[in-house]
Amino acid sequence: MKRCFLSAGSPASSPSKSRVVEAVCIHLCDKFSTPQKKGGYVSRWKLIISAYNGIRQRLLNSEDLLEGTDLILLVINEATLTKWYKDHTRRGEIKMLMQGLSLPGRRTAKEPLPPAKELPSDPSQPAVPLTFEEPTDTTGQAARRVRRSLSVSEPAATPPPVDPPTPSDPTEESPAQPPVQPMVIQPVASKPASRTTDWRHRKKTGERKERKVYTCRVCNKPITSPGHTQFRGHRYCPDAPNQIPKEEWLVLRRAESKKP
Ligand SMILES: [Zn+2]
Repeated sequence: MKRCFLSAGSPASSPSKSRVVEAVCIHLCDKFSTPQKKGGYVSRWKLIISAYNGIRQRLLNSEDLLEGTDLILLVINEATLTKWYKDHTRRGEIKMLMQGLSLPGRRTAKEPLPPAKELPSDPSQPAVPLTFEEPTDTTGQAARRVRRSLSVSEPAATPPPVDPPTPSDPTEESPAQPPVQPMVIQPVASKPASRTTDWRHRKKTGERKERKVYTCRVCNKPITSPGHTQFRGHRYCPDAPNQIPKEEWLVLRRAESKKP
Protein backbone atom coordinates (compact mmCIF):
# COMPACT_ATOMS: atom_id res chain seq x y z
CA MET A 1 0.00 0.00 0.00
CA LYS A 2 1.35 3.39 -0.93
CA ARG A 3 1.59 5.62 2.04
CA CYS A 4 2.53 9.21 2.52
CA PHE A 5 4.72 9.99 5.51
CA LEU A 6 3.67 13.57 5.84
CA SER A 7 1.68 13.58 9.07
CA ALA A 8 4.38 13.91 11.68
CA GLY A 9 5.62 10.38 11.29
CA SER A 10 2.30 8.54 11.27
CA PRO A 11 1.56 6.85 7.97
CA ALA A 12 -1.33 8.29 6.04
CA SER A 13 -3.24 6.78 3.14
CA SER A 14 -5.05 8.23 0.21
CA PRO A 15 -8.85 8.21 0.58
CA SER A 16 -9.04 6.35 -2.74
CA LYS A 17 -7.65 3.23 -1.01
CA SER A 18 -11.01 2.58 0.62
CA ARG A 19 -14.44 3.12 -0.86
CA VAL A 20 -15.89 3.92 2.56
CA VAL A 21 -13.21 6.53 3.26
CA GLU A 22 -13.73 8.02 -0.20
CA ALA A 23 -17.50 8.21 0.38
CA VAL A 24 -16.94 9.89 3.74
CA CYS A 25 -14.52 12.36 2.16
CA ILE A 26 -16.94 13.21 -0.66
CA HIS A 27 -19.62 13.87 1.93
CA LEU A 28 -17.31 16.01 4.06
CA CYS A 29 -16.09 17.97 1.02
CA ASP A 30 -19.72 18.87 0.29
CA LYS A 31 -20.25 19.81 3.91
CA PHE A 32 -17.14 21.96 4.24
CA SER A 33 -16.99 23.77 0.92
CA THR A 34 -15.34 26.91 2.28
CA PRO A 35 -12.73 27.63 4.97
CA GLN A 36 -13.78 28.84 8.38
CA LYS A 37 -13.21 32.55 8.81
CA LYS A 38 -15.00 33.38 12.05
CA GLY A 39 -12.85 33.19 15.16
CA GLY A 40 -9.55 32.65 13.29
CA TYR A 41 -8.91 31.22 9.87
CA VAL A 42 -9.15 27.42 9.53
CA SER A 43 -8.67 25.96 6.09
CA ARG A 44 -11.28 23.80 4.44
CA TRP A 45 -8.95 20.78 4.51
CA LYS A 46 -8.28 21.13 8.23
CA LEU A 47 -12.04 21.18 8.83
CA ILE A 48 -12.53 18.06 6.74
CA ILE A 49 -9.66 16.22 8.44
CA SER A 50 -10.97 17.25 11.83
CA ALA A 51 -14.48 16.01 11.02
CA TYR A 52 -13.10 12.79 9.53
CA ASN A 53 -10.97 12.13 12.60
CA GLY A 54 -14.08 12.66 14.75
CA ILE A 55 -15.96 10.02 12.79
CA ARG A 56 -12.97 7.67 12.96
CA GLN A 57 -12.64 8.13 16.70
CA ARG A 58 -16.34 7.37 17.24
CA LEU A 59 -15.92 4.19 15.16
CA LEU A 60 -12.91 3.07 17.17
CA ASN A 61 -14.76 3.71 20.41
CA SER A 62 -17.81 1.66 19.32
CA GLU A 63 -17.26 -2.04 19.93
CA ASP A 64 -20.56 -2.92 18.28
CA LEU A 65 -19.64 -1.26 15.02
CA LEU A 66 -16.10 -2.68 14.95
CA GLU A 67 -17.23 -6.26 15.64
CA GLY A 68 -20.38 -6.20 13.55
CA THR A 69 -19.21 -4.44 10.37
CA ASP A 70 -15.44 -4.90 9.81
CA LEU A 71 -15.43 -1.23 9.04
CA ILE A 72 -11.96 0.38 8.83
CA LEU A 73 -11.33 4.09 8.44
CA LEU A 74 -7.78 4.71 7.23
CA VAL A 75 -5.64 7.52 8.56
CA ILE A 76 -5.61 10.43 6.14
CA ASN A 77 -3.90 13.80 6.30
CA GLU A 78 -4.10 17.08 4.44
CA ALA A 79 -1.57 16.04 1.83
CA THR A 80 -3.28 12.79 0.89
CA LEU A 81 -6.70 14.44 1.07
CA THR A 82 -5.86 17.35 -1.23
CA LYS A 83 -4.12 15.07 -3.74
CA TRP A 84 -7.10 12.75 -3.76
CA TYR A 85 -9.43 15.72 -4.17
CA LYS A 86 -7.54 17.03 -7.20
CA ASP A 87 -7.53 13.61 -8.88
CA HIS A 88 -11.20 13.10 -8.00
CA THR A 89 -12.15 16.48 -9.47
CA ARG A 90 -10.11 15.78 -12.62
CA ARG A 91 -11.79 12.44 -13.16
CA GLY A 92 -15.20 14.03 -12.56
CA GLU A 93 -14.50 16.71 -15.15
CA ILE A 94 -13.44 14.14 -17.72
CA LYS A 95 -16.59 12.12 -17.05
CA MET A 96 -18.68 15.25 -17.47
CA LEU A 97 -16.98 16.14 -20.75
CA MET A 98 -17.49 12.62 -22.07
CA GLN A 99 -21.25 12.80 -21.43
CA GLY A 100 -23.33 12.60 -24.57
CA LEU A 101 -20.34 11.66 -26.66
CA SER A 102 -21.31 8.75 -28.89
CA LEU A 103 -18.29 6.52 -28.81
CA PRO A 104 -17.75 4.24 -31.78
CA GLY A 105 -18.77 0.67 -31.28
CA ARG A 106 -16.60 -2.35 -31.93
CA ARG A 107 -14.64 -1.84 -35.11
CA THR A 108 -14.76 -5.27 -36.64
CA ALA A 109 -15.20 -6.34 -40.26
CA LYS A 110 -18.65 -7.47 -41.29
CA GLU A 111 -17.23 -10.37 -43.27
CA PRO A 112 -14.69 -12.79 -41.82
CA LEU A 113 -11.10 -12.18 -42.94
CA PRO A 114 -9.40 -14.65 -45.32
CA PRO A 115 -7.28 -17.30 -43.67
CA ALA A 116 -3.65 -16.54 -43.00
CA LYS A 117 -1.17 -17.23 -45.79
CA GLU A 118 0.90 -20.30 -45.22
CA LEU A 119 4.63 -19.67 -45.05
CA PRO A 120 6.90 -21.78 -47.27
CA SER A 121 8.82 -24.42 -45.40
CA ASP A 122 11.78 -24.43 -47.86
CA PRO A 123 13.63 -21.36 -49.17
CA SER A 124 12.34 -20.52 -52.63
CA GLN A 125 14.77 -20.64 -55.56
CA PRO A 126 14.98 -17.53 -57.77
CA ALA A 127 13.62 -17.84 -61.30
CA VAL A 128 16.91 -16.58 -62.82
CA PRO A 129 19.83 -18.32 -61.11
CA LEU A 130 22.36 -15.86 -59.82
CA THR A 131 25.91 -16.17 -61.12
CA PHE A 132 28.89 -14.75 -59.32
CA GLU A 133 32.11 -14.23 -61.25
CA GLU A 134 35.26 -15.35 -59.53
CA PRO A 135 37.81 -12.55 -59.12
CA THR A 136 40.91 -12.92 -61.28
CA ASP A 137 43.92 -14.40 -59.54
CA THR A 138 46.59 -11.70 -59.24
CA THR A 139 48.88 -13.62 -56.95
CA GLY A 140 52.45 -12.37 -57.19
CA GLN A 141 51.64 -9.43 -59.46
CA ALA A 142 51.71 -6.75 -56.81
CA ALA A 143 54.69 -4.41 -56.72
CA ARG A 144 57.05 -5.31 -53.93
CA ARG A 145 58.74 -2.77 -51.75
CA VAL A 146 62.41 -3.57 -51.56
CA ARG A 147 64.95 -2.40 -49.03
CA ARG A 148 67.24 0.29 -50.36
CA SER A 149 70.45 -1.48 -49.36
CA LEU A 150 69.49 -4.43 -51.52
CA SER A 151 68.68 -2.27 -54.52
CA VAL A 152 71.90 -0.26 -54.25
CA SER A 153 74.63 -2.71 -53.35
CA GLU A 154 73.49 -6.16 -54.38
CA PRO A 155 72.08 -7.03 -57.73
CA ALA A 156 68.86 -9.00 -57.71
CA ALA A 157 69.49 -12.64 -57.18
CA THR A 158 68.82 -14.71 -60.23
CA PRO A 159 66.03 -17.19 -59.67
CA PRO A 160 67.24 -20.70 -59.14
CA PRO A 161 66.37 -23.04 -61.97
CA VAL A 162 63.13 -24.80 -61.38
CA ASP A 163 63.44 -28.50 -61.16
CA PRO A 164 61.00 -30.27 -63.42
CA PRO A 165 58.64 -32.56 -61.57
CA THR A 166 60.32 -35.86 -60.99
CA PRO A 167 58.70 -38.65 -62.92
CA SER A 168 59.24 -41.07 -60.05
CA ASP A 169 56.05 -40.04 -58.20
CA PRO A 170 53.44 -38.96 -60.73
CA THR A 171 50.72 -38.94 -58.09
CA GLU A 172 52.10 -35.85 -56.34
CA GLU A 173 51.66 -33.29 -59.11
CA SER A 174 49.21 -33.34 -61.95
CA PRO A 175 50.81 -32.64 -65.36
CA ALA A 176 48.27 -29.92 -66.14
CA GLN A 177 49.49 -27.74 -63.26
CA PRO A 178 52.28 -25.37 -64.34
CA PRO A 179 55.42 -25.29 -62.22
CA VAL A 180 55.38 -22.60 -59.61
CA GLN A 181 57.59 -19.68 -60.64
CA PRO A 182 59.58 -18.20 -57.77
CA MET A 183 58.99 -14.54 -57.25
CA VAL A 184 61.74 -12.29 -58.58
CA ILE A 185 62.49 -9.22 -56.53
CA GLN A 186 62.98 -6.30 -58.87
CA PRO A 187 65.31 -3.58 -57.64
CA VAL A 188 63.48 -0.34 -57.21
CA ALA A 189 65.65 2.72 -57.77
CA SER A 190 63.20 5.28 -59.10
CA LYS A 191 62.01 6.81 -55.84
CA PRO A 192 64.66 8.76 -53.92
CA ALA A 193 65.04 7.71 -50.31
CA SER A 194 64.22 10.16 -47.55
CA ARG A 195 66.93 12.13 -45.77
CA THR A 196 66.48 10.03 -42.64
CA THR A 197 66.88 6.81 -44.63
CA ASP A 198 69.96 8.28 -46.27
CA TRP A 199 71.43 9.20 -42.92
CA ARG A 200 70.74 5.75 -41.46
CA HIS A 201 72.33 4.13 -44.46
CA ARG A 202 75.43 6.31 -44.17
CA LYS A 203 75.67 5.63 -40.44
CA LYS A 204 75.45 1.89 -41.05
CA THR A 205 78.02 1.78 -43.80
CA GLY A 206 80.33 4.46 -42.37
CA GLU A 207 80.06 6.42 -45.58
CA ARG A 208 80.41 10.21 -45.26
CA LYS A 209 78.22 12.60 -47.11
CA GLU A 210 80.05 14.96 -49.38
CA ARG A 211 79.58 18.51 -48.19
CA LYS A 212 78.41 21.10 -50.59
CA VAL A 213 81.36 23.10 -51.82
CA TYR A 214 80.99 26.85 -51.49
CA THR A 215 83.23 28.96 -53.63
CA CYS A 216 84.68 32.38 -53.03
CA ARG A 217 82.87 35.10 -54.92
CA VAL A 218 86.08 36.92 -55.68
CA CYS A 219 88.45 34.21 -56.85
CA ASN A 220 86.02 31.29 -57.42
CA LYS A 221 88.24 28.99 -55.37
CA PRO A 222 86.64 26.94 -52.58
CA ILE A 223 86.23 29.05 -49.49
CA THR A 224 88.12 26.38 -47.56
CA SER A 225 91.20 26.99 -49.71
CA PRO A 226 94.24 28.51 -47.91
CA GLY A 227 94.21 32.18 -47.14
CA HIS A 228 90.42 32.44 -46.84
CA THR A 229 88.58 33.01 -43.62
CA GLN A 230 85.35 34.46 -42.30
CA PHE A 231 84.16 36.44 -39.32
CA ARG A 232 80.48 36.58 -38.45
CA GLY A 233 79.20 36.41 -41.99
CA HIS A 234 82.00 38.51 -43.49
CA ARG A 235 84.28 36.59 -45.84
CA TYR A 236 87.94 37.31 -46.38
CA CYS A 237 89.61 36.60 -49.71
CA PRO A 238 93.39 37.14 -50.00
CA ASP A 239 93.05 37.76 -53.76
CA ALA A 240 90.56 40.61 -53.43
CA PRO A 241 91.79 43.96 -54.82
CA ASN A 242 93.60 46.18 -52.26
CA GLN A 243 93.31 43.41 -49.68
CA ILE A 244 94.89 43.92 -46.28
CA PRO A 245 96.60 41.05 -44.43
CA LYS A 246 94.30 38.47 -42.82
CA GLU A 247 95.37 39.28 -39.23
CA GLU A 248 94.66 43.01 -39.70
CA TRP A 249 91.30 42.20 -41.27
CA LEU A 250 90.34 40.02 -38.29
CA VAL A 251 91.39 42.77 -35.84
CA LEU A 252 89.21 45.27 -37.71
CA ARG A 253 86.22 42.87 -37.76
CA ARG A 254 86.54 42.18 -34.02
CA ALA A 255 86.73 45.89 -33.28
CA GLU A 256 83.62 46.49 -35.43
CA SER A 257 81.68 43.76 -33.64
CA LYS A 258 82.41 45.28 -30.19
CA LYS A 259 80.85 48.60 -31.19
CA PRO A 260 77.28 48.93 -30.00
ZN1 LIG B 1 88.95 34.20 -52.81
